[in-house]
Amino acid sequence: MPETGQERVVIVGGGFAGLELARQLVKGPYQVVLLDKNNYHQFQPLLYQVATAGLEPSSIAFPLRKLFQNRPNFYFRMTEVLAVHPDEKYLETPRGIVWFDYLVLAIGARTNFFGNEHFACHAIPMKSISEALYLRNAILDDLEAALTTPEYDRRQGFVDIVIVGGGPTGVELAGALAEMRHWILPKDYPELDASEMDIYLVQSGKRLLPGMSEEAAAKSLEFLQSLGVHVVLGDRVVDYDGEWVTLKSGRKIYSKKVIWAAGITGNRVKGLDSSVLTRGNRLQVDALHRVKGYDHIFAIGDIALMEGDPDWPEGHPQVAQAAIQQGHNLGRNFLRKAKGKDLKPFRYKDKGALATIGRNKAVADLPFWKTQGWIAWALWLFVHLFALVGSKNKVFVFLNWVWNYITYDQSLRLIIRPWLRKRKEERDLTC
Ligand SMILES: Cc1cc2nc3c(=O)[nH]c(=O)nc-3n(C[C@H](O)[C@H](O)[C@H](O)COP(=O)(O)OP(=O)(O)OC[C@H]3O[C@@H](n4cnc5c(N)ncnc54)[C@H](O)[C@@H]3O)c2cc1C
Repeated sequence: MPETGQERVVIVGGGFAGLELARQLVKGPYQVVLLDKNNYHQFQPLLYQVATAGLEPSSIAFPLRKLFQNRPNFYFRMTEVLAVHPDEKYLETPRGIVWFDYLVLAIGARTNFFGNEHFACHAIPMKSISEALYLRNAILDDLEAALTTPEYDRRQGFVDIVIVGGGPTGVELAGALAEMRHWILPKDYPELDASEMDIYLVQSGKRLLPGMSEEAAAKSLEFLQSLGVHVVLGDRVVDYDGEWVTLKSGRKIYSKKVIWAAGITGNRVKGLDSSVLTRGNRLQVDALHRVKGYDHIFAIGDIALMEGDPDWPEGHPQVAQAAIQQGHNLGRNFLRKAKGKDLKPFRYKDKGALATIGRNKAVADLPFWKTQGWIAWALWLFVHLFALVGSKNKVFVFLNWVWNYITYDQSLRLIIRPWLRKRKEERDLTC
């Protein structure tokens, strides 16, 4: 990394928070270094559409380097940060060390399997594009397998799907799979009886969408049931061995696919004092985004838990808006600092929450208005299209959605396996 004489701000994580921060910082007198283990930004709210073959992965990802072309004070390195050395001010990565004057951790969260090894081994998470693609392959692969499985009981394992967690991800996925069963299965797999495919959504709480209003929860339940999803409320998945799902009530469901959407926990980086870790593995920060006990290390987005906001005593919600607003405020504060101006403490502006269940079916809780059905669905489409990074992505996603809406079809049902796995399968390699 060249020494340019400017103060170096190292941002770890090119998600919503890190990206917005970098966008602000490049306008200032800083050397901005962005590190991410991927060379692209991924738009997690649309992962479920990649998993259900509605969108191509490239439509919801954007190369980080391309975003900052022609910014001479911006540097990107694709690498994973392993540890922070706060006193010496450097980071450890597999590609060497990176010195910093200021460090911002925007590393987000990962799937929380609550320490259960069975879930971690057998259930499918959906937190990244590669996991969404894995799920897409698994769904399509299993439908092919079902065609050549004459025994009803064994076939059920291939076609049935269990989703764990009734938050927005679980609800959206369940709706999309139900629509796939209704519109696609009879056309692509006419020899299969689509009604044999059962989709279960298991939620330990008494209602769906715990972060949204009662009206949104009730309507999303009604929408899902109208699409034929078996919604199991007030029961908990306690074990899964890769074939049998066991619920706390003792009920068992046979399925080769369990999708885990039941919670997240903060990503870990070694080296910070353990006292900064709080609920959900998040880092405790003050209203200026400083990690507790460090004045040159900051945390924003899902990984941060801000103390002292009276409206959000439990911390801000782990959603894209909170991450973007935090990145924006911290970026503006760096610019204010460079001009000798006072820094602004963060205040979160809640713009509401949306979840879509299917065609014309969505729920919206806006600050002054709650609505469900077609209007909420149109709003959901607009908000997600607007938030996507990259004009090409916006156009492609829009065209895809229009095409899907008119034809009731998605045209992307390809099973594309990673090359190495394919090579191993073909040549029987054990390496
Ligand atoms: C399936 C799904 C659906 C969602 N739907 C919605 C929705 O509809 N609306 C909404 O508001 N929110 C939604 N969310 C939540 C939203 O995506 C997150 O709140 C948001 O992504 C948080 O942004 P972030 O920048 O904190 O973290 P992320 O966007 O997760 O970014 C973290 C970045 O850090 C990188 N990273 C992590 N560890 C390291 C390391 N050690 N070294 C280098 N790089 C690292 C990662 O590669 C990643 O690029 C959804 C999330 C998921 C998973």
